[in-house]
Amino acid sequence: MCGIVGYIGNKQATPIVMDGLKRLEYRGYDSAGIAVHNIGEPIKFLKNAGRVAKLESEVNKSVPLGTVAIGHTRWATHGVPNDINAHPHTDCTGKIFIVHNGIIENYIPIKNELMASGHKFSSDTDTEVLAHLIESLFRGTLEDAIAQALARVRGTYALAVISEGDPQKIVAARNSSPLLIGIGDGETLLASDPSAVIAATKKVIFIEDGEMATLTSEGFRIKDLGGEDLVKRLVEIPWTLEEAEKSGHPHFMHKEIFEGPEVIQNTMRGRVMADQGLVKLGGLEDIAKRLSETNRIILTGMGTAYHAALIGEYLFEELAGVPCEVEYAAEFRYRNPILNDRSHTVLIAVSQSGETADTLAAVREAKRRNVLTMGIVNVVGSSVARETDAGIYNHAGPEIAVASTKAFLSQLIVLNMLAVFMGRMRNLEVSRAKELLNELITIPEKINQILAQEQFFAQLANWLKDAEHIFFLGRKYNFPVALEGALKLKEVSYLHAEGYNAAEMKHGPIALIDSSFPTIAIVPQDSVYEKTISNLEEIKARGGPILAIATEGDEHILKVADTAIFIPKVLEPLSPILTTVPLHLLAYHTAVARGCDVDKPRNLAKSVTVE
Ligand code: GLU
Repeated sequence: MCGIVGYIGNKQATPIVMDGLKRLEYRGYDSAGIAVHNIGEPIKFLKNAGRVAKLESEVNKSVPLGTVAIGHTRWATHGVPNDINAHPHTDCTGKIFIVHNGIIENYIPIKNELMASGHKFSSDTDTEVLAHLIESLFRGTLEDAIAQALARVRGTYALAVISEGDPQKIVAARNSSPLLIGIGDGETLLASDPSAVIAATKKVIFIEDGEMATLTSEGFRIKDLGGEDLVKRLVEIPWTLEEAEKSGHPHFMHKEIFEGPEVIQNTMRGRVMADQGLVKLGGLEDIAKRLSETNRIILTGMGTAYHAALIGEYLFEELAGVPCEVEYAAEFRYRNPILNDRSHTVLIAVSQSGETADTLAAVREAKRRNVLTMGIVNVVGSSVARETDAGIYNHAGPEIAVASTKAFLSQLIVLNMLAVFMGRMRNLEVSRAKELLNELITIPEKINQILAQEQFFAQLANWLKDAEHIFFLGRKYNFPVALEGALKLKEVSYLHAEGYNAAEMKHGPIALIDSSFPTIAIVPQDSVYEKTISNLEEIKARGGPILAIATEGDEHILKVADTAIFIPKVLEPLSPILTTVPLHLLAYHTAVARGCDVDKPRNLAKSVTVE
């Protein structure tokens, strides 16, 4: 994810694009850049690693003049965040400039082909291939070259291109990444979302997948990639600036929960070959042989990432058949772990930010003892990503709310993919792998079905908000989900919640149950369904109110629980991905009902960089 801004009109473009970039910084902030064209002169550009503020101070030293500009704030997917990898990217002639949001999946063969015909690349990004591809196809009309280039690439993009050879226009195109045009008076703007244009205009046109737009100071033209003109509907944006930044969602946490389905698609993109029962993980190519010989997995993380790791343990043992243990990263370092068979052990660190100090310390300890290390990390180029031997990026986009939601779902997707990947190196049958991967593909739609019940969650939150203590219970795959549900509620609503294994209740905690002590039970119809129901009967017998997260069509559940949230049917190893969603949304609504500062809960920080 990243932010794109473009401006063409009768004013100086630089300040307008810089202002737009600041508003889009929530979409990515590891690097930023701008290309400005003063017609008749060479295009000037400035870019650097770091926040937009850093670019701004460079820009302010000598503001580039010009009435056409494109800008970018980056969230790296390919190539660490440094000055060279920052956008815009250019071709060999330095006359074509491009900013891009998304991933060009087949960039390697195209890059090899272009290099063989003499093109010189300067960055490690996937994006740069587009600049050179457009250069190689350019015959005077930018739109034609871009249409031909896009016919060759696979992947996702929102892009904006300017060129000295065909000036006075910005050409934009989209496939799966957001992009819109703002219609001003004598000026036309381009942006990833309305917040970047709303200061100039509230009239926008949303560019759809497979469309290409040409922006001029007089207006715009949109065609499909076959060159047919399209008639588009003008939309009036009703939001204030602040609302626009959150795309109309009241909080970032809400926005990020609702981004779940899209994030999951981004995490799986180009990696899941369901029809072959295979998973392709480019970041693991160099260590594939060692992974095939691994006989012990140690998963580590803290907080929500630790809960993802706990689910990973079930996945690796069931699907890959490799013994697995989970350790708080903060413990691993200090308890002198016994690592006998180091050449067959892998430590997998899970961290959204890749900067969690405890997790980084565990990685360093494992490396010091010559154990293979891997990262499951969202932030490209972060410390965990750099210091591990190999890894898998989440591609979940920036997570702004302190309480992690979408990154957790993405971690579960990665763990599922990795378990199948390692399973297929061993005894996981191809038919089982196909079944799991085909089901994985249906998950985004199933999450949408859960999110559609939001109104009901808000009602439940109104009931929950007055409870003093709440239990979250689950078994097997959904035991870690119970821990996660309790953590999320604590973090954002400040209610006291505890997650337990449902079977553990009778060994002590059930002493607390009375009619004022609600239990949220995660009880999908899986291999431990009946056992969990028995545990719930024990709570019901003591007068404890129960809210169940249950499988749709479960007719028995309301005989035990007082009320239930129903989720679609799903294969057991994938069920935590679905059961988590209602718990995140319930925590969100409970926090809102209690008037808490949802996106910035007290006493917390997004990434904990101290031990
Ligand atoms: N894939 C591009 C890069 O890594 C764009 C990333 C993005 O969409 O944030 O530079």
